[in-house]
Amino acid sequence: RSATEITTEVLERIEVLEPKLHSFLRVTAEQALETAKKVDAKIAAGEEIGLLEGIPVGIKDNMCTQGIPTTCASRILENFIPPYESTVTQKLKDAGAVMVGKTNLDEFAMGGSTENSAYYRTANPWDLERVPGGSSGGSAAAVAAEECVVALGSDTGGSIRQPASLCGVVGLKPTYGLVSRFGLVAFASSLDQIGPFARTVEDAAILLGAIAGYDPKDSTSLKVEIPNYTQFLKPDLSGLKIGVIQETFGEGLDPTVAETVNNAIEQLKTLGAEIVEVSCPRFRYGVSAYYIIAPSEASANLARYDAVRYGIRENSDTLLSMYTKTRAIGFGKEVKRRIMLGTYALSAGYYDAYYLKAQKVRTLIKQDFETAFERVDVLICPTSPTTAFKAGEKTEDPLSMYLLDLMTIPVNLAGLPGMSVPCGFDAQGLPIGMQLIGNVLREDLLFQVAYAYE
Ligand code: GLN
Repeated sequence: RSATEITTEVLERIEVLEPKLHSFLRVTAEQALETAKKVDAKIAAGEEIGLLEGIPVGIKDNMCTQGIPTTCASRILENFIPPYESTVTQKLKDAGAVMVGKTNLDEFAMGGSTENSAYYRTANPWDLERVPGGSSGGSAAAVAAEECVVALGSDTGGSIRQPASLCGVVGLKPTYGLVSRFGLVAFASSLDQIGPFARTVEDAAILLGAIAGYDPKDSTSLKVEIPNYTQFLKPDLSGLKIGVIQETFGEGLDPTVAETVNNAIEQLKTLGAEIVEVSCPRFRYGVSAYYIIAPSEASANLARYDAVRYGIRENSDTLLSMYTKTRAIGFGKEVKRRIMLGTYALSAGYYDAYYLKAQKVRTLIKQDFETAFERVDVLICPTSPTTAFKAGEKTEDPLSMYLLDLMTIPVNLAGLPGMSVPCGFDAQGLPIGMQLIGNVLREDLLFQVAYAYE
């Protein structure tokens, strides 16, 4: 089939599914068909095409797309049309990928269920009453429901891996600095990373290869060679040592999730891997440290929404009241909560007790990983302690939502690569994911293990 036919089919599917799913904040049908036509013209001219050419992709709506609104699912940016293109979307454009739309998220990527979107919640394709996870819930749902082939998300404390797990797709947070964040709307700059969602490990490897690499426009970007990640897709795991993080199998873990991940670990053994138990005793302080560090950075990053430079403006008689009125109507509840938390933690007198302390805990968590990686090549644990929960179930209790990030957050704090891979279903048919964690820049091993397992 031609690229135009494929794109048309996908757009038709989106039209049918969207009234129920709401994976997208905006569908870019016109631009998609235009790109597809260009690909077909290339094929007709006998030119060779790349792996991503003509492939429908979804982009989380916190990545700037020139001329196409980028809202971060926030009211404050509802009229924001970026004058420039993010590096990742530029790379996908150059690769000939067909962007079909901008996907829904928790406002400014703050949340774990996509219910914090200022526009609407996204449904989990496996059970519409349930959440797709978050914050990249739109991208995860769109890939799971085949509204696109692959998608991009961002992950600050689990926002790619957790929705991937809850929607039964592959999701990867790369090593901090591997993928440029130029044009990604900042949430917590020391943690944010962009990464791929896909239905297969191979697709994720191809997409990561397309978006990774040094970018002078991002000062945290790593100067490293990007390998062809598909070369690591081998069916054999002999010689590889995989460490099971003991602490993640404790209290709060759904027994079915535990059993399913344990079965997957048994299967890795039969593929040749040596399985050992490892301990990361400071892992459990990750959530507490994160919910100081991330809001602190967010409070600084979100200061730019001042009704002057971006987005909506609520006019008033003084500058200060223009700021406050605009921010009062522009930001949702969770975003306000984070700004207040972060401002408090950074204020004189509290800085040492909270922010500095959290940074020290961060170092200890990093040390736990360093010790573990002296003994093993890859770490494994569940991605999320539960499967997808019902919409509305946790919205009144932010702490219960924060606790879901237990296993994903330490990976961001340490800047490591982490991947969620589907590994089974619970009794209600809801997907379960396992998380593979690698040392810095060892995405190759994650792909190897995930591919062999898949
Ligand atoms: N759920 C976490 C939070 O609410 C993670 C979000 C993310 O990774 N963007 O902050």
